[in-house]
Amino acid sequence: MIPFLDLKEINMRHEEEITQSIKSFLDSGWYILGKQVEEFEKQFAQYCGTKFCIGVANGLDALSLIIRAYGIGEGDEVIVPSNTYIATILAISANHAFPILVEPELLSYNIDPNKIEEKITPKTKAIMVVHLYGQACNMDPINALATKYNLKVIEDCAQAHGAIYKEKKVGNLGDAAAFSFYPGKNLGALGDGGAITLNDEEIYLQLKALRNYGSHKKYENLYKGVNSRLDELHAAVLKVKLKYLDEDNQIRRSIAEYYSDNIHNPLIILPNVEQVDGLSHAWHLYVIRSNNRANLQSFLTNKGIQTLIHYPIPPHKQQAYKEWNNEEYPISEKIHNEVLSLPISPVMRLEDAVKVAEALNEYKETV
Ligand SMILES: *Cc1c(COP(=O)(O)O)cnc(C)c1O
Repeated sequence: MIPFLDLKEINMRHEEEITQSIKSFLDSGWYILGKQVEEFEKQFAQYCGTKFCIGVANGLDALSLIIRAYGIGEGDEVIVPSNTYIATILAISANHAFPILVEPELLSYNIDPNKIEEKITPKTKAIMVVHLYGQACNMDPINALATKYNLKVIEDCAQAHGAIYKEKKVGNLGDAAAFSFYPGKNLGALGDGGAITLNDEEIYLQLKALRNYGSHKKYENLYKGVNSRLDELHAAVLKVKLKYLDEDNQIRRSIAEYYSDNIHNPLIILPNVEQVDGLSHAWHLYVIRSNNRANLQSFLTNKGIQTLIHYPIPPHKQQAYKEWNNEEYPISEKIHNEVLSLPISPVMRLEDAVKVAEALNEYKETV
């Protein structure tokens, strides 16, 4: 069986270093908001090229706290792609603001910059972009619109740690950015974790308080904050794994490149990587399309190849968003009906990628 992702193997590569880092955390006797988180925040800000980083409990909280810090709430609108993971949209709803769905480009799977302006109203406060599957969005036209209409640009980088757009890392392409360190992400903790990166000091200080009961100083509360802190334990592990992120992404790139060069089957559409100078895909997922996905997936399962679907149901068809169930987002629906994610990870062996490509080349419409 070729697994979709072997998380245990990914982490066990660093067993010794992780164990050592956890040991020094244990020896410190300090469990919440201490040296580990502080050091990781510094290192991750430096990695992304931003002035500041704030560790939080997960990616959803990172998104939600950014929206809150910008004062976006009741009566406000936030533009968001119609084909994202539900967390992006839940973060807007959690602040009682209204998500405005914009269709993606079929080729890049990312929000279509040409469809944003028609959705901007006097209530629009922000554009929330998602660097889906690890590919940075086409940011120049999006940032130009944000400047024109005085909107915040918030990046959802949960799938794109280390991806680059025109020589800048994601996390530093808008006003503020959210990351998730959920175990399966390109930079994953041994549990839940998240971070916010940004350059604005005032918002940074506010977010730092918001994640910790709205407090800068123990028992003094400036805001009605929340408890959403990155644990020292996870920061101790993330510090180790951050050192290997670029190397890991490079392995992902070589697997993706192998797939793209070697899968030749008219029934299968390969992911399109925009040829922008200085653009570097983080390949969180390698997503192909087929108009008979169920057939293709069971064909691959029979060949011992595990695949997943990201995602089977678009946000506007979810029960949680009943009010949208009758709306139509045809590109998003097409994507959700056709996508299939192939195995890809920093521990995947090239001989397994060869087998996956061979199987896909053998695939015919009838099994
Ligand atoms: C994983 C993910 C999130 C949420 O992160 P959590 O840490 O699980 O809360 C948000 N947006 C996208 C696009 C994701 O893939």
